[in-house]
Order: sequence, then C-alpha cells, then structure tokens
Amino acid sequence: MTITTERPALSSAAAAYLSKERKLFIDGKWVAAKSGKSFAVEDPATQETIARVPAGDKDDIDLAVRAARRAFESGPWASFKPAERSRIVWRLADLLEQHRDEFAELEALDNGKPVTNARNGDVQGSIEMFRYMAGWATRLNGETISVSSPGNWHAYTLREPIGVVGQIIPWNFPLMMAAWKLAPALAAGCTIVLKPAEQTPLSALRFGELIQEAGVPDGVVNIVTGYGETAGAALAEHPDVDKVAFTGSTEVGKLIVKASAGNLKRVSLELGGKSPAIVFPDADLDLAIAGTAAAIFYNQGQCCTAGSRLFAHKRVYDRIVAGIVAEAGKMKVGHGLDPTVSLGPLVSKEQHERVTGFIQSGRHDGAEVVTGGNASAGPGYFVEPTVLAKTNRDMRVVREEIFGPVVCVQSFDDDDLDAVAKFANDTEYGLQASVWTQNLRVAHMMARKIKAGTICINTHNYGDPAWPFGGYKQSGWGREMGKEVMEHYTETKSVAARL
Ligand code: NAP
Ligand code: MG
Repeated sequence: MTITTERPALSSAAAAYLSKERKLFIDGKWVAAKSGKSFAVEDPATQETIARVPAGDKDDIDLAVRAARRAFESGPWASFKPAERSRIVWRLADLLEQHRDEFAELEALDNGKPVTNARNGDVQGSIEMFRYMAGWATRLNGETISVSSPGNWHAYTLREPIGVVGQIIPWNFPLMMAAWKLAPALAAGCTIVLKPAEQTPLSALRFGELIQEAGVPDGVVNIVTGYGETAGAALAEHPDVDKVAFTGSTEVGKLIVKASAGNLKRVSLELGGKSPAIVFPDADLDLAIAGTAAAIFYNQGQCCTAGSRLFAHKRVYDRIVAGIVAEAGKMKVGHGLDPTVSLGPLVSKEQHERVTGFIQSGRHDGAEVVTGGNASAGPGYFVEPTVLAKTNRDMRVVREEIFGPVVCVQSFDDDDLDAVAKFANDTEYGLQASVWTQNLRVAHMMARKIKAGTICINTHNYGDPAWPFGGYKQSGWGREMGKEVMEHYTETKSVAARL
C-alpha cells in the first residue's frame, strides 16, 4: 500500500482556529473545565497532537444543564416567535456556508476523511440540514380534534418543545451529526447540551463560535467536550434533562437507555448497522459496481449505513467482485487534507485495531481476501480497501459491525424474493438496505420485505434532510430528519374545553 501521509498546509483560517485555546461553551461563555483537565486531539493520518480540548465531566455537564434549563424556562428564547427561531437556524446555515472550507479542513484533519468529501458531503449536508429545519419552526402546529363526548367541546392539541435535550454524537461525521441534532431541536424551541465524540471535538467547538455570532441566546446551546464514560454518562443520567438523542454504537445505546430510567427521560437512538446491498442479475452493472464500492469505502467504511454485506446473484457475482476490486485499486490512500486522496486513515488506534482484528478473524474463519487486507504499520491508522469473499452467515465478519472499509461478499442463486429477503434480514440490525435492479416490481417488493428503516434502490448511503432516517431492530429508536424528527423534540398537549 502506498500512502501519502505528509500533511498539506492548512488555510490561515483553519490554522488560526487550531492555534487558539479551546474551552467549553456554557451559558454563552467559553469556560475551562472545572477540573482543569484536558485531552489531546490527534491527526489520525500522522498521529501528531493537533490540539487540546477540555475534559469536561459531571460538574461541567451539571453547569451546562442548569444553563439550558434557565434558558428554556425564563430566558429570551422562551418567548422567541417561531419566525425568529426560523431566522436563527437559517443564519447558522449561512454562517456555515461562509466558513465552508475552514470546516472541511478541520473535519479532514480531525477525523481523517478526504477533504473533498468533507466539503461536499459533511459541510454541505450540514448547511442543507439547517436550511430544511429552519422551515419547521413555523410549521409546528397542533390540531383541532373532533370528540364525541356529550355536550359541546372545543378540543385541540398544542405542540410544545420537549425541554432540555442532551445530545451525544459520534466521530464518523462530527459536524453533520451535530447539525442533525442541533437543527431540529432549535427549530422546535428546545435548549441543548451537546457532547461531541472525544476523537473529533474540533468542528463542534468551532461551530459554537457561529452559534454566538448567529445571536442564539445564552444557554440555548451548550457544548461540553469530554469522555463518554464521564461527560456522556452524566448527561444521559442527569435528572433535569428531558430527553437524550444519541448516535453511536448499539452497546452504548443500551447504556443510555439504562441511564435514562432515573427520570424516564425520552430517548431516541441511531445505532449501528450491518446493511445488505443486494445485486440482482438484471442490474445496471456499472452503476451497481460503483455504487456498492462506494457503499463500503466511502468515509473509510465508517458509516452506520455502510453496505458491509454484499449479496450478488451468481450470474453477476464474478463481474461484481472484479469490479469492486478494480474500484478499490483506483483509490488513493493518504492524508485527508490532500484533495486527490479518496481514502483516509481510520479515526483512531482503537478503530485500526478493531478493523484489523476483524480482517484476521475473517481469514481465520475461512474468508478469502480478494483484495486489500493490509494495514499500515504507522504512522497513521490506514487500512486498505478490502474485499472478503467466500463469507457466510456464521462468520463474525458477517454478523458484527466492522466499521471499516471491509466488505463481505456472498452469492445467491435464488430468484424467490422471500428467500433473498431472508438473507438480507438475517441480522440483528435494520438501518439500511440497497437493492440493485432495473425491475420495478423486484425493487419495490424488496423494499417491503426488508426489515430496515431506510431502503435505497440503485443507490446506497442515501440521505436527505426531508427523508426520515432511522433503524428497525437493534439499529435504534425513532426517526431523525423529515417531519418525523419533530416527534423527538416536541410533546403533544391535549386541551379539552366544555363550551
Ligand atoms: P460510542 O462509544 O458509542 O460513541 C458514541 C458517543 O457516545 C461518543 O460521544 C461517546 O463518547 C459517547 N459515549 C461513550 N460511552 C458513553 C456512556 N457510557 N454514556 C454516554 N455516552 C457515552 O462509539 P465508539 O466507541 O466511538 O465506536 C465504537 C463502535 O460504535 C464503532 O466501531 C462502530 O461500530 C459503532 N459506531 C456507530 C456509529 C453510528 O453512526 N451508528 C457511530 C460511531 C460508532 P466518547 O467518544 O468519549 O467515547
Ligand atoms: Mg467510545
């Protein structure tokens, strides 16, 4: 594997942000962690320390929750008209757009992802999310209800913001996960404590500056960097938090549910996946090859929707595998800040060990490494784009989420759609599935038969702010985006008046 790990120069804006001292954002002010502790942020391509951020813990979370409670109950935010909230959320999109390149660089440096993807995917997607959600602020209505009780009644519902929301996000799309969480919660009128992932805190902290600039009142958004086991756990169990919105692993999702029991706070979860991509023999093969390769290699495979189980019909199996191997061969591996790179490093040492461990386990269980399979010895957490063939349902690589650029290919020779759906559904997850075919009936029948929250036809890793997103089974609770996400951030109050 040839890797270019030299770090290209940063723009002056990104360099200026990195040279600053970073603090926690609580009640509209930048403050040090109470403990005075901090931790290092690493460039995963070079393993150099690029910054330090405060290690917030229980005490800082408590301050942030108090600020969010004050802002929710008695601050100016509580009396903002929907149109004022809408304008603020829209302004965040405009500000992000003005600083698009700087955010793309910070994201590439912190997470490792290719800067072009960061700009066109992460940052652009975040801008679109704020714009779309800005519209919901003025569209949250209750209803009048036709009741049948004797007498005359005026019955109606109110949609009210749910209150103080804790938001815990992962490292795979750091800014975009912050946008998915912040934009709808702000549109609904909630106040927020956001806990970014320890591996990738930079873009969220930089976004805190835009929140100030946009005129979001103090305490409405608070950002506390810190470890999951301390800051994250304190937020999940805090008795004055009304709701926790979490994205991350299924394992931690279960801990969040336990922690929420103390005050029965509302919980929504976006968890892992083991998404199938199913290629039927009549598929447009060029499209299917490029699409299923991107499904697993995009973002170094660190997508919760990654197409990590590829099922190819035996009549096209050889061509699909050869095509994906060729796509893998075309990828340029290196530092994410190099605009010609298409595959960056994994985010951390832990993920590097996890993914190489899975490749070893696949080999041990009899999978054939058709391409890739190697990891760099360092510096940098690089793993080659890898295709494992001759895999089967009993292998760990097929059952568990790898979260790396490793696809497990299986062939099928069944033309019965129920039988094909059975392979697809043979997982504890249910986040996404893609179906590759030119036959409308097959496409839409498969969409009905697969147990997953999102189905893609002739595409994969699809997303749009208007398109509800979430999981069946152990992939989560609830839906983000679309009008559905407003269920996460509002309560319905029913009013009945005897006339
Ligand atoms: P994770 O531990 O679930 O991290 C997600 C977020 O939860 C982070 O902000 C994390 O903080 C926080 N957290 C961790 N423990 C917590 C606790 N006890 N209470 C409250 N919050 C807590 O994920 P990870 O360890 O970074 O990655 C492990 C695996 O999770 C990956 O290999 C992948 O399979 C899966 N994953 C899935 C997604 C997804 O989008 N579905 C995203 C990321 C990872 P820290 O960062 O400080 O730990
Ligand atoms: Mg973790």
